[in-house]
Amino acid sequence: MAELRPYEIYAIKYGDHPRLAADNFIGAMPDDAHSGPMPLDYFIWAIKGADKTWIVDTGFDAAMGRQRQRNVIRCPSVGLQALGIDAGKIEDVIITHLHYDHCGNHSLFERARYHLQDKEMFYTTGRCMCHAPLRHPFDVEDVVKMVRRLYDGRVAFHDGDEELAPGLSVHRVGGHTMGLQMVRVWTERGWVVLASDASHLYANMEQARPYPIVYNVADMLAGHQRAYALASSPQHVIPGHDPLVLKRYPAPNPALEGIVARLDVAPLS
Ligand SMILES: [Zn+2]
Ligand SMILES: [Zn+2]
Repeated sequence: MAELRPYEIYAIKYGDHPRLAADNFIGAMPDDAHSGPMPLDYFIWAIKGADKTWIVDTGFDAAMGRQRQRNVIRCPSVGLQALGIDAGKIEDVIITHLHYDHCGNHSLFERARYHLQDKEMFYTTGRCMCHAPLRHPFDVEDVVKMVRRLYDGRVAFHDGDEELAPGLSVHRVGGHTMGLQMVRVWTERGWVVLASDASHLYANMEQARPYPIVYNVADMLAGHQRAYALASSPQHVIPGHDPLVLKRYPAPNPALEGIVARLDVAPLS
């Protein structure tokens, strides 16, 4: 691996949603009834290389937060600015999937090319969206915006596993949506996998308990295993929405405590 140059990775929180543990798993378990609150955090991720910075997902804005009754704490660009990243100059954005919480804030990355799996565009513009429960987590304007980017020459499609740069690759696992992709990144501590919604919480993958918003349960369960297989250790897999991420990984500086976590370094104790 001597030839690979390591990346830095940052998780940037922009919102959260208080909810119950029972909302986060398929199938009631004996202790779920009294397991109480299990909130979700909302993140985007920045992958900083020697030459360029890649962004993974773009979050949603305050208007969408009101519409969906989710808390937007700050625009994701504020966290980026704190890291010295100018959203307007970003050239490449990887979209893990097109759910509303992963691909909004349309005006932030105006120069960027968007990296998406073939199957995600197929899923969100075809017959599966005839079903209300499947289309509910999508916003039509996000999908339309992606089609507009396509016609502006600003979408790069991927099919399955593809390397985007040395030490940086995308991997379709589906499950949660038909075209969900994870991102694998080479770092000083080895291979880190940004699982995004392949596993919302550590508990989903650790206990092999699927999250209830799902296109294919078998693929979601296989996706947990795939994330572990692609990472240097189970501690190298980063779930998409777990508040524990900000507790397990250090902030890059004290001012960013509770906002940004650095994922390319070892977890705290
Ligand atoms: Zn999702
Ligand atoms: Zn999500």
